[in-house]
Amino acid sequence: MSNCKQCSQDFEITDRDRKFYDRISPEFGGKKYSIPEPTLCPECRQQRRLAFCNESNLYPAECNLCKERAMTEHPPHANQPIYCRECWHSDKWDAHDYGCDFDFNRPFFEQLHELKRKTPSPALTQDGTIINSDYVHYTGSCKNCYLIMHATFCEDCYYGYGFKKVKKCVDGFYNLRSEFCYDCIDVHTCHDLVGCQDCINCSSSKFLRDCVGCQDCFLCVGLRNKKYCFENKQFTKEEYQQKIASMDIGSFETYQRCMKKRQVLELEHPFKATNNRNTENSFGDHLINCKDVQYCFDCEDAEKIKYCYQVVIGAKNNYDIYQYGENLQESYECAIVGADAYHLLFTMDGHLGSSDLTYCMYMETSKNCFGCVNMNRASYCIFNKQYTKEEYETLVPRIIEHMRSTGEWGEFFSSDISLFGYNKTTAQMYYPLTKDEVIAKGWKWDDYEPEVKAEKVIAADRLPDNINEIPDDILNWAVECEVTKKPFKIVEQELRFYREKKLPIPRRSPDQRHLDRFYKRNPRKFWDRKCAKCNTDIQTTYSPDRPETVYCDSCYLKKIY
Ligand SMILES: [Zn+2]
Ligand SMILES: [Zn+2]
Ligand SMILES: [Zn+2]
Repeated sequence: MSNCKQCSQDFEITDRDRKFYDRISPEFGGKKYSIPEPTLCPECRQQRRLAFCNESNLYPAECNLCKERAMTEHPPHANQPIYCRECWHSDKWDAHDYGCDFDFNRPFFEQLHELKRKTPSPALTQDGTIINSDYVHYTGSCKNCYLIMHATFCEDCYYGYGFKKVKKCVDGFYNLRSEFCYDCIDVHTCHDLVGCQDCINCSSSKFLRDCVGCQDCFLCVGLRNKKYCFENKQFTKEEYQQKIASMDIGSFETYQRCMKKRQVLELEHPFKATNNRNTENSFGDHLINCKDVQYCFDCEDAEKIKYCYQVVIGAKNNYDIYQYGENLQESYECAIVGADAYHLLFTMDGHLGSSDLTYCMYMETSKNCFGCVNMNRASYCIFNKQYTKEEYETLVPRIIEHMRSTGEWGEFFSSDISLFGYNKTTAQMYYPLTKDEVIAKGWKWDDYEPEVKAEKVIAADRLPDNINEIPDDILNWAVECEVTKKPFKIVEQELRFYREKKLPIPRRSPDQRHLDRFYKRNPRKFWDRKCAKCNTDIQTTYSPDRPETVYCDSCYLKKIY
C-alpha cells in the first residue's frame, strides 16, 4: 500500500502497474529513465489533471496576430496571448522564437509556466473542419453548433457535452449516434427523444430511463422493445395517442411534472450495479466495447487501459488519461491527448500524430520534445529551443536529474501553474472545493464573469409558461437563471428548435443545466453493496445511502428480460 501525499488515503500499486511504469519509461541515448511510482492516489491524480481543463467558460477576445474576433478559453485578465486557429497554424509566426535555455537553479514547472504565459496559445482546442461554429471547444469536425464541448462530428447541436456523431441534439450529456434528442443523458443510437436517460435504440419517446429498443413510449423505466407504453403500462395505439394528446410539454410546468414523475417511477425499478456494454475482463462504469480495462469511466473501444476517463476509439496501453484517445497508445498522465498520438508522458494537449513528448503543453504533430509549449511540427526541442538529436539526448537526462532533485520527475504539472481558476475547470465539478480551500492550497480562484449584454433581464419565473406564449423579443432579453441568478441569452437557432419541438424555454443558465445533468449521472466512484435480490456482494456506483434498488448483473437480467 502507498499513501497519497495529498489526501493521505492508502492506495494500491500492483505488479502490473509497476510493469507499465517501467515499459513506458523513456529512453534517451539508449538509457532508460525510470518513471517512479505515483505519489498521489488515482483520484488526486485525476483532480490534478482536471485542474488544467477549462471546458465550458469561453470569453470573447481578439486574435493577437490578425486582430479578428475570436472566442477563447482564456479570461481577459489572464493576458494570455492567443492566436485564432488559422493564425496559430500559419507560418506568420514561429514558436521556436520563444525558445529559452533551461535554468538548473530553478524548478522545472516554474520555468514551463513562464514559457506558457508568453507563447501564443490557440484560442480554443478545435480539430477537423469547423463550420459556422465559433463557440465550440475541445471539439472536432462540426457544423452549425453552439456551445458544445468534448464533441465530434456534430451538426445543428447546442449545449452539449460528450456529443459524438449526432444531429440536432440540444442540452445533452453523452449523446452518441443520435438525432433530435433534447435534455437527454447517455443515449445511444436514438431518435426524437425528450428527457431520457440511459437509452439505446429508442425513438419518438419522452421521459424514459433505462429503456432499449422502445418506440412511442412515455414516462417508462426499464422496458425492452416496447411500443405504446405509458407509465410502464401497455396500451393500444389509439389509447396511447389519446393519453399523450393531453400532455403539452411545451408548458414548463408540465415538463417539470413529467420529469419528477420519471424520478418516482425509477424508484420502483432495479438498476444494474454498473452500466457497461460488451466488455471483457473490465471494471468501470459507462464502458462500451472494452477489453482489459481497469477502473475507467466513459470509455469506448479501448483495450488495456487503467485510470482513464473519456477515452475512445482504439486507445490501447494507457494509464491515467483524461480525454480523448482516438488511437492513443503507450501514454501516461496526460489530459486532452489523442489523434494517433504515441508515447506521451505528463502532457496536456498532444494531438495529431504527436509522439515521444514529455512534459509538453499544446503540441500538434510534434516528436521528441521535452518541456515545450504551443508548437506545431517540432522535433528535438527543449523549452521551445531547437537542438540536434545528440544535444537533445544529452540535455534531457540532465533536466530529468534536476527534476528528480526537485521532486518534479514523475508528477503531472502541479495545479498552481494551471492557467485557470480552479472553479472554472472540470476539477470543480468532480472535486468541488470552496474558495478558501482552493486559496489555502495555493491554487487559483477566478470570480470573473463576462458581462451579458441585453435590453432587459427577466427573472426566470416571470417567463410565460408555454412556448406558444414566448414572443420573438426574447432574443433581445437575458433570462436570469433561477439557481445562479446569472443572466443568460436564448439564441435564435435555439428558439427555433424549442418552437419546432414544442419545448419550454429553459429557466436555468447553460452552465447550470450542464451541472444538473452531471448530477443525474452516477459519480465516478465505487461502493461495496449487496444485490437487493440475491444478497451477493457487488461493487456499484450507487452509494449505499441512495434510494435506488440495485441488482447484480444476473438478477437484473432475469428481472428486465
Ligand atoms: Zn489522494
Ligand atoms: Zn488570427
Ligand atoms: Zn443478485
